[in-house]
Amino acid sequence: MKGLVFDIKRYSIHDGPGLRTTVFFKGCPLKCLWCHNPESQKSTKEIMYHAEECIFCLTCKSVCTKSAIGVEKDRIKIDLKTCDLCGECTTNCPTNALEMVGKFYEPEELKDEVLKDRDFFGNDGGITISGGEPLMQFDFLMKLLALLKEEQVNIALDTTGFTDTDKLLSTLPYVDIYLYDIKHMDSKIHKKYTGVENDKILSNLIELDRNGSRISIRFPLIPSINDDEENIKKTAEFVSKLNNIESVDILPYHSMMEDKYRKLEKPFLLKHIGKPTKKRIEYVKKQFEQFGLKVNIGG
Ligand code: SF4
Ligand code: SF4
Repeated sequence: MKGLVFDIKRYSIHDGPGLRTTVFFKGCPLKCLWCHNPESQKSTKEIMYHAEECIFCLTCKSVCTKSAIGVEKDRIKIDLKTCDLCGECTTNCPTNALEMVGKFYEPEELKDEVLKDRDFFGNDGGITISGGEPLMQFDFLMKLLALLKEEQVNIALDTTGFTDTDKLLSTLPYVDIYLYDIKHMDSKIHKKYTGVENDKILSNLIELDRNGSRISIRFPLIPSINDDEENIKKTAEFVSKLNNIESVDILPYHSMMEDKYRKLEKPFLLKHIGKPTKKRIEYVKKQFEQFGLKVNIGG
C-alpha cells in the first residue's frame, strides 16, 4: 500500500496548534478557484515546468521515449495524452526546470519521515495531515493514522469535509483536532466556485461535532465571493450552534500562487480579485466574534 504525497512542510505554525510537520496528500474532490495549492488537485503525479530555469538544451525531449515533449512559443510543452509520467525528463533536466510533483510513500516510510522533527513539537504541536483531501486515500490514511497514534504524537486532520460520513467518523479514534473548511453557506454558489455542493460538508461537520471531536473551522476570506454580510452571518450562526468549535481561522485570500497555475498549465480564473484589506479582515473577525466565537487570522 502506497500513498501519494506532494509536499512535507516542517516547522509550520499555521496548520493547527503549536509547531507542526504538515504532510500534504495529493488528490482533491473539490476544484476551488482560489486553491493555493493547485498541484494538490490531481490524484496522479504531474509535471511542473519552471520556464525561468529552462536553458533549452532539449535533453528532456531526447530522453523521452514517448515523444511527448515539444517546444511551443519558447516553452517546453508536454503532451499529457502521451506522457506516462515515467520521470525521465525530470531526472535528466540539468537545471531542474521540470519537476515531478508527487511522491509515493509506504505508510512506515512516511511515518518515519514526518516524525524526524518530533523533538520540536513540544506539548501542543505534532503532525498535520492535509491535502488535497486526505480522505481520498482512505486506506493509506488509516494506516498512517494508526502508526502515528502508536507513537503517541498529536494528530491534526485538515479536511474539506466532502467525503463519506462513515469514513470521516472512522478517523475519530486517531485524530486530536480537525481543521475543517467552510467556504460558502449557499450551496449553489459553493458549487459554482468549488465544483461541489456544500450539503455533505455541513452535515459531516454536524456529525463530527456530535461525536465531541475538537474542531477548528478554516474560513478562506475571498473578496466578492464569500465576504458579503449575509454569508458571514450565516456561517457564524451555523458554527456558533456547534458545541466543540475551538476557533474560526480566517484565511485571507492572496494570489501568490498564480505562478503555480502557469507552471502546471492550469487556468487561473481569479485574476480580477485582490486580497482583502486589513480593515475588511478585522470587520469580518468582529462579525464572527459577535457570535461568541474565538477567531484567529491566518490559521
Ligand atoms: S532538459 Fe530542462 S533545461 Fe533542458 S530544455 Fe528540457 S526543461 Fe529545459
Ligand atoms: S515523464 Fe516520461 S513520458 Fe512524460 S514527458 Fe517526461 S520523459 Fe516523456
